[in-house]
Amino acid sequence: MVLCYCGRFAIVRTSKTDTNPGRRFYCCAEQGSNCGFFMWFDPPMCARSTELIPGLLKSKMRADLLEHELRTGLGSSTRNQADFEKLEQEISKKNTQIKYLLVIIAFLCLMLLF
Ligand SMILES: [Zn+2]
Repeated sequence: MVLCYCGRFAIVRTSKTDTNPGRRFYCCAEQGSNCGFFMWFDPPMCARSTELIPGLLKSKMRADLLEHELRTGLGSSTRNQADFEKLEQEISKKNTQIKYLLVIIAFLCLMLLF
């Protein structure tokens, strides 16, 4: 366990910045405190990961939104069955692309470590 400057157990959060997307870091558990403790939990990301991950996250969010629309029937008044089938295919295609890209990113990161 890691302690912050004010002696509490630091918590782990996930970065949402474009320079460190998805990279986890330690910070003070007390929100709004002046502690200012910060330490990376994950090692630095390779440049390729930093380049690809924001786009992947956006694709994933879009796929999740489309899936939510399909499941809840939202937007059904403006979309017909053919549109739903097209959306389902698009979601499936995006999810496959995301899986392949994550495997490539993991491989590239491992190559950089060794
Ligand atoms: Zn603290």
